[in-house]
Amino acid sequence: MTYKTVTLKRGKEESLQRMHPWVFSGAIASADDSIEEGDLVTVYSHDGTLIGNGHSQIGSIAVRMLTFDDTAIDEAFYSQRLNDAYQMRLALGLQREDNNAFRLVHGEGDFLPGLVVDIYGPTAVMQAHSPGMHFARNIIAHALTRLPGIHNVYYKSETTLPYKAHLDPVNDYIVGGMETDEALENGLRFHVDWLKGQKTGFFVDQRENRSLLEHYSHGRRVLNMFCYTGGFSVYALRGGAQLVHSVDSSAKAVRLTDDNVSLNYATSDNRHQSFAEDAFKFLDNMDKDAYDLIILDPPAFAKHKSALRNALVGYRRLNAKALEKIAPGSILFTFSCSQAVNKEQFRLAVFSAAAQTRRKVRILHQLTQPADHPINIYHPEGEYLKGLVLYVE
Ligand code: SAH
Repeated sequence: MTYKTVTLKRGKEESLQRMHPWVFSGAIASADDSIEEGDLVTVYSHDGTLIGNGHSQIGSIAVRMLTFDDTAIDEAFYSQRLNDAYQMRLALGLQREDNNAFRLVHGEGDFLPGLVVDIYGPTAVMQAHSPGMHFARNIIAHALTRLPGIHNVYYKSETTLPYKAHLDPVNDYIVGGMETDEALENGLRFHVDWLKGQKTGFFVDQRENRSLLEHYSHGRRVLNMFCYTGGFSVYALRGGAQLVHSVDSSAKAVRLTDDNVSLNYATSDNRHQSFAEDAFKFLDNMDKDAYDLIILDPPAFAKHKSALRNALVGYRRLNAKALEKIAPGSILFTFSCSQAVNKEQFRLAVFSAAAQTRRKVRILHQLTQPADHPINIYHPEGEYLKGLVLYVE
């Protein structure tokens, strides 16, 4: 198979030789005039050595590499990569009788830049972040259905494709339809709304952190801030929390949380209550010492590097508000999912918040994304989720 060609400037092949999967536009010496966004291209170094094949794109990342050799990008290629991803999730023990929600494809972390696939029982929810993956969506969807147990593929690209690409984003089933909206995570049941919810409908990346929280919940008064589908709340209840309050500014999220609590607990269990309110306001108005376990899992405060400063101020303010009011002998689970904020920066923001309140604070755990969100060692940018579990006296 021959693809259109891109030739790099001298020296610009180095990061690619180390298998970093992005070609930046500034690295390109020349390219075929006929290249259109999303086309498959073959990348060559300045001296004509073949580097590999990838998807072209307009913007600062000009090519996302799919191979570092001349392997054709066809149905067999996608089938192979998806099967490799599936075998790894089997090895992780994520496909079980009591667990059928997990991430199958995590972009560069599964050597498929631009593609995300989450599995909820018999349904795969697929998102393209690049035009190339958008054009390949039908081949990928059919390859997905050849994996065991996947009958339906919902494609959701309305919010993920670069808006400048002027593509026709689609949110629709490519294969099958609605079979069930229920998924199982560590024996707990969740409704997942991939049709209208954020991202693929559920944040599977917090699975292990929710399990850890369950372990700390016994007898505690829990406040779950930015609850979305109520994942942390449902685990805290199973862990024996005395009460759980869930807060989200979105009324729809609060309804989802209520539904998920009802799905798992009897109506006579009245330990849970939810509030559709702004998190900062809720923290300002709540009584001191009202909670002894607080979860802060806000949306990404920095979507881009340019927003980094404001984001760090945001994390400091949010954490300071919680640290001021949390009861003595408490636990705080605090997270950042901003890729632009690194571990050290996040820890420094939480440190500043602690210093501001002058409480005695110790770090119990440093959390990250789970193994089904792997980080390609050649692409450290794939690390995004950071969390700290603090003991506050
Ligand atoms: N903790 C959740 C994921 C949180 S996603 C989980 O485990 O699944 C972030 C959530 O924050 C979204 O549901 C969004 O509606 C909510 N949110 C955004 N800004 C907010 C604000 N200022 N106050 C309260 N909630 C907010």
